Amino acid sequence: MHLHPNADPAEVVVVSNERCTAGRKPAGFIRHVVFDVSGTRLEGSFRPGQSFGVIPPGVDARGVPHKVRLYSTSSPTRGEDGQGRHVATTVKRLIDEHVETGRLFLGVASNYLCDLKPGDRVKMTGPSGKRFVLPADPWAHDYVFFATGTGVAPFRGMLMDLFPEGEHPGRGDGGRAVLVMGSPYGTDLLYDGQLRALEARSGGRFRYVTAVSRESGWSGDGRLSGYVHDAFGRIAAVDEVLSGGRALVYVCGVAGMELGVLRGLWRSADGAAFVGVDASAGEPGVWTRRMIHKEVRPSRRVFLEVY
Ligand code: NAP
Repeated sequence: MHLHPNADPAEVVVVSNERCTAGRKPAGFIRHVVFDVSGTRLEGSFRPGQSFGVIPPGVDARGVPHKVRLYSTSSPTRGEDGQGRHVATTVKRLIDEHVETGRLFLGVASNYLCDLKPGDRVKMTGPSGKRFVLPADPWAHDYVFFATGTGVAPFRGMLMDLFPEGEHPGRGDGGRAVLVMGSPYGTDLLYDGQLRALEARSGGRFRYVTAVSRESGWSGDGRLSGYVHDAFGRIAAVDEVLSGGRALVYVCGVAGMELGVLRGLWRSADGAAFVGVDASAGEPGVWTRRMIHKEVRPSRRVFLEVY
């Protein structure tokens, strides 16, 4: 960790920058940006679930140099190139309106990253984060990954670690995985083609489920109209993995998703393995976000990374 601290960032080079949404006209602009970190201390140093820092050039409105911003790597441990030299992230352009003036507001770092061209040089720090990673023996467990939007970034890397291309899928018995991916529209699903290909080559060990919140007709095999927590009790693979005794659950994306997932886990067949609940918390329907980590405690088998 922190091989290149903020005071000593690495200079890395942009390899590619492409859209990674499923449809031609997505509601949001989300890009897969790849950096060449070879020759720096970052080479071969990232694990999925970790982040790197990016320092945008220039100064803010007060004339102070921009601060470092953290982005999750979406690459597997071996990198995009198989050698740990090319590291990617998944960036959504922040486009908003100024609260007071009503003028267009563009997020500094996200738009800087999304505008980068191959060959551009970028100041990068990291790696950071040690908690939201796969365990030391990843094949000793099964997984349910819940993602919303760009929260899928760490899971793309983790799934590529669990199901490497060209190798026999999984090792031994473990390493089954389900990804429940939440998106506003089908056009905004991220890495959809790659995830479908991964499912196809997994020999039934990986199930890819999409939950689309703003399209009522999005239903069928592995498709849910609604939120990621709608997968509980509806997607057999989720219930099977959760009741198998060795499941780990990872949650990444919008902050609101935690509560629905914790409710679903608590109501699942092996609920107490995933959530500890005080009597004072009442029924799951009345839980609030403030109770999380207090009256409603995710167990050590549940990893939350939400913003
Ligand atoms: P997005 O495309 O807007 O998709 C979010 C999806 O989640 C939508 O379908 C949304 O539905 C749904 N949703 C809203 N409230 C929900 C709830 N209470 N329960 C379940 N689903 C809910 O997402 P985004 O703009 O990419 O945002 C992704 C978030 O992930 C960002 O906040 C980002 O900071 C975070 N992130 C974190 C990490 C990390 O921690 N390492 C990495 C990457 C991203 P509706 O809007 O239709 O209601």
